[in-house]
Amino acid sequence: MSVTREGIDQYFSIRVIEPICKSGRASRALSLSDHLDITFQSGRNSRERGVVPRPPRASEREPQGQPAATELRAIVLRPTSNLIMMRCVPCEGDGDETCANCGKLGSDAVKLKNCTACRLVKYCGVDCQRAHRKKHKKTCKQRVAELKDEQLYSQGHERPEGDFCPICTLPIPFRISDHSVFMACCMKTICHGCVIASQKRGMFDCAFCRTPMAGNDADRLAMIQTRVAKKDPQAILFLGRKYYHGDDGLQKDMRKAVELYTEAAELGLTDALFSLGNVHYHGDGVQEDKAKAVEFWTKAAVQGHVESRHNLGGLEEMKGNHDRAVRHWLISAKMGDERSFEMIQEVFMKGLATKEQYAEALKGYQDATEETKSHDRDEAKAFLDNRK
Ligand SMILES: [Zn+2]
Ligand SMILES: [Zn+2]
Ligand SMILES: [Zn+2]
Ligand SMILES: [Zn+2]
Repeated sequence: MSVTREGIDQYFSIRVIEPICKSGRASRALSLSDHLDITFQSGRNSRERGVVPRPPRASEREPQGQPAATELRAIVLRPTSNLIMMRCVPCEGDGDETCANCGKLGSDAVKLKNCTACRLVKYCGVDCQRAHRKKHKKTCKQRVAELKDEQLYSQGHERPEGDFCPICTLPIPFRISDHSVFMACCMKTICHGCVIASQKRGMFDCAFCRTPMAGNDADRLAMIQTRVAKKDPQAILFLGRKYYHGDDGLQKDMRKAVELYTEAAELGLTDALFSLGNVHYHGDGVQEDKAKAVEFWTKAAVQGHVESRHNLGGLEEMKGNHDRAVRHWLISAKMGDERSFEMIQEVFMKGLATKEQYAEALKGYQDATEETKSHDRDEAKAFLDNRK
């Protein structure tokens, strides 16, 4: 049986597959100084210089079904600032086994305790620790920042389980909402390839759990509410996004959205951390708090949330920290994020990223993109492009 127009419409009409970002993307070719010829796509605002994050319109900010949203673009043209090299040397004391303040040797009688923040120095007691605080503060802070960075850049290089189609098990390309369908019956995100393939076999129910499609908004909302009552984090986040946009007959309610995001995040959903970052960044339904936004995005990024990683890169670029920005974007580009790759390309063209970094990003991005490809997905893309 072939795929019918009606069948597809029935399948797709009740969910959201239109791209969140409506800006047209134009291709252009650039000739690089090292004679590499490359073609890339760039967002509408990519030529703006020195400006940063383009605040998305409210409707763009939060994905309606699945991910994608706040996109921070940042190009700040400043000379590369010298990196402060952080060293990890104990500040005082003759070695590990002496109190950093009074020099007393550790023994059975004198138990030395680590500075719990940096673990670089030891003290014989609270008094010595207190007395030494002023001297130690700077080194301690530096080491703490170093430890935080180690975690920030070494974790979250793999895409989370939710980024993979549960049927074909391949990672879904970004933006996920442009390449998949979110099922209200089972809360699964199914790639377009698998959706079309199952319809070709004559199945128009959910390709994952075989539940018949909800016929209208109200039915679908009821399905979601059932899962929300069972504390399904995906359902809670989804409902939150419905309130954020005022979809499916719901009254738009940002506060309610934030409440639901918080609940989903507490249940361990990485995507919810990303959404919490977004609302705090923009002050939607909460007091605007950029530092909190960074906290949420950081938490999500170390768990493999690509858009959060991309945003952290944008924020670093805004501060002129090109090196830190590129480190973030390298990670997200290698996970298949096109925008992060484009940002590396842009900073490379400005001489703010090395050729090696650019090459690494290009290769990583291409490899990650290759991994998302399949025959079914190619067919689905051709089919959907045809419908436009
Ligand atoms: Zn001491
Ligand atoms: Zn310390
Ligand atoms: Zn699939
Ligand atoms: Zn289902």
